[in-house]
Amino acid sequence: MIGPQISTHDSVNALQDVSIKIEKKIAELGKSLDITLVAVSKAFNAQKIMPILEVGHRVFGENRVQEAKAKWPMLRQTFSDIELHLIGPLQSNKAAEAVQLFDVIETVDREKIAMVLAQEMKKYDKHLRLYVQVNTGSELQKAGIPPQDTIAFVKRCQTFHHLNIEGLMCIPPTDENPGLHFALLEKLGREAGLSKFSMGMSKDFETAIAFGSTNIRIGSAIFGCRSAMT
Ligand SMILES: *Cc1c(COP(=O)(O)O)cnc(C)c1O
Repeated sequence: MIGPQISTHDSVNALQDVSIKIEKKIAELGKSLDITLVAVSKAFNAQKIMPILEVGHRVFGENRVQEAKAKWPMLRQTFSDIELHLIGPLQSNKAAEAVQLFDVIETVDREKIAMVLAQEMKKYDKHLRLYVQVNTGSELQKAGIPPQDTIAFVKRCQTFHHLNIEGLMCIPPTDENPGLHFALLEKLGREAGLSKFSMGMSKDFETAIAFGSTNIRIGSAIFGCRSAMT
């Protein structure tokens, strides 16, 4: 029992540390900001997630539909007010499952996905909150709509597919100053009439908050190193 007890203690403390850093950053900026901390639990099992739920945290992120399906329906039986975000790429053949599993999908990035999500949500009479993922660094291997197409795509999602687009999301290139990408996302969002921005991870969330982030997605700073766990 010693092992699990130690790891329990760690993740709860780490969550508290991150929360304190968020508060400090907000105070430093001298604004009243409402930041949602999405705890990214990918690669960690229910046992590792449980302590975070037990101290009252409810907003989580997963990057794969199959993995989420294996963990969260069971956890939701105990904690009915969980808010689960999909933060990884969505294939259209997984859209039906995603609509049933998640409360928020942060990775809408192409017409096909917008169309299939609209169909599936209609079928189940669900109205998920959605984010459009923007490939701010125009990286070939990365998901996301190109920056120059973002505003038109948001408008099309809203007016043609009647989707509830709440904001924009980005994952900056690892080797660049993230601030430039956060600034671009915020600018595009404002131009599209949106006010929610999912940006900032364990290493750069304080920078992201300074650039107007409203949702930070924190994995390793709470749960520890993923490669050591798997
Ligand atoms: C894994 C992941 C995160 C969390 O990353 P950390 O660096 O561990 O905080 C955030 N966003 C996305 C899209 C991810 O896939």
